[in-house]
Amino acid sequence: MTTKPTIMKFGGTSVEDSEAFRNVARIVNSASPERVVVVVSAIGGFTDALLSSVEKAIDGDAGAATRSLDQDFERHLVIGKRVLGSEARAVFESAIAGARGQIRELHKIVAAHPSTNAPLRDEIVAFGELLSSQLLTAVLRENGLATSYIDARRLIKTDESYGAAVPLAETTAATQAELVPLIEAGETPVVGGFIASTAKGATTTLGRGGSDYSAAIIGTALDAREIQIWTDVSGVLTADPRVVPAARTIPVLSYQEAAELAYFGAKVLHPKTIQPAMDRKIPVRVCNSRAPREAGTLIVSESEATPQTIKAIAHKSGITTVQITSARMLGAYGFLRALFEVFDRHQTAVDVVTTSEVSVSLSIDDASALPEVIPDLEKLGAVEVEEGRTIVSVVGEGLRGTPGIAARVFSTISDINVSMISVGASSVNLTFMVDDARARETIVRLHRTYFEGGTLEDRIDRTVADVLV
Ligand code: ADP
Ligand code: ASP
Ligand code: MG
Repeated sequence: MTTKPTIMKFGGTSVEDSEAFRNVARIVNSASPERVVVVVSAIGGFTDALLSSVEKAIDGDAGAATRSLDQDFERHLVIGKRVLGSEARAVFESAIAGARGQIRELHKIVAAHPSTNAPLRDEIVAFGELLSSQLLTAVLRENGLATSYIDARRLIKTDESYGAAVPLAETTAATQAELVPLIEAGETPVVGGFIASTAKGATTTLGRGGSDYSAAIIGTALDAREIQIWTDVSGVLTADPRVVPAARTIPVLSYQEAAELAYFGAKVLHPKTIQPAMDRKIPVRVCNSRAPREAGTLIVSESEATPQTIKAIAHKSGITTVQITSARMLGAYGFLRALFEVFDRHQTAVDVVTTSEVSVSLSIDDASALPEVIPDLEKLGAVEVEEGRTIVSVVGEGLRGTPGIAARVFSTISDINVSMISVGASSVNLTFMVDDARARETIVRLHRTYFEGGTLEDRIDRTVADVLV
């Protein structure tokens, strides 16, 4: 392609109502005449509603499942009424009627055969992005852009891991074949995020929050100039703003810093977003659709991402830790392999690992397979499980070689019980575990220490901590 396109991804909160759609149209319009590909999530809250409708169907009440979506379809109709002219509105209303009918049939099948729920859940939940992308195509067209609606399932090809599908290599060629001719003809393709399909054509989804990942996959396939993630906050912030209202925008992050933050809980980016962008060195920019003039965060390669400081604190709550203790571990080989094989067999991802001579502690996010995992682990040693833990991760290139950072972190929270300390594995993060009940306090205090000017007392605390180091 002669000119590289920019990928602009809009999240659910950026398309939650008619005003938000108008706003997106303004943002996309002001980006053109650059070449743009738009990726959009389901309207705010609709994916949650679709997923809980599937649960109702699994419980056997197909009628209740379908009725539970009435309000959300109404929201779509209201947006259509407010933002579309009569012709486009009629087309959109018939798309909604079609989606409603298909979802009703799917709910009936799930209710009658609950074991079909994995593929059919993806089939149902995909309507969120299918409808929002059709609606946004029409809105942009009414705003004077030459747009074309593209079904994302023609671009992103995955395996059959429903709910968390893994893209396959043929995605690149399929995306190029569908989008390059349109872009070269001056059209703006609009694609739903999150959804994909298998080689056989079954609908799959990329995991919650996966539209960011869709944008990165499409951006990589097209060798984009930049991948923009438009959301409801001004970039990646120094902490989760719901926990720390004083959190502020980080102007520049390295790919590795952003990947660690996303992996350890910064919801603003899906954890898989960074890798594809990093492979092709495509800059990722996180911007606020409600304050489009604010600079947001630019994510680039390490050498461009300065200064070498602590950039942010991420956290992930509701974590389970498992400790396996066995004298057999002492000086033996093969023990860790046997241990990880258990998690492998039960398809359970492990986040953090720490070891001592005779014990290994691991943290897991999704504990649903634990009842099957534990008996297998008990063959290796004594097993202890603790629920309700939070992983806290302090992230920044500054951790590479700045002495005293760990001492300052732990002196800030010296009265809080900390376990599973892990530092150096990635060299840009310091990770540890606290109880869920102490998580907020931990994060607020660390944020004050690292990112807020603070009171005289804080400054004295910090000075003392530095002297003690
Ligand atoms: P979208 O619908 O645009 O994908 P998300 O809800 O997935 O938006 O992600 C944005 C939200 O991520 C923010 O509203 C904020 O509450 C949360 N968040 C958590 N940690 C961070 C962080 N470090 N920086 C910015 N936002 C964060
Ligand atoms: N709509 C999907 C979700 O809510 C994907 C996304 O928003 O990124 O998880
Ligand atoms: Mg998101």
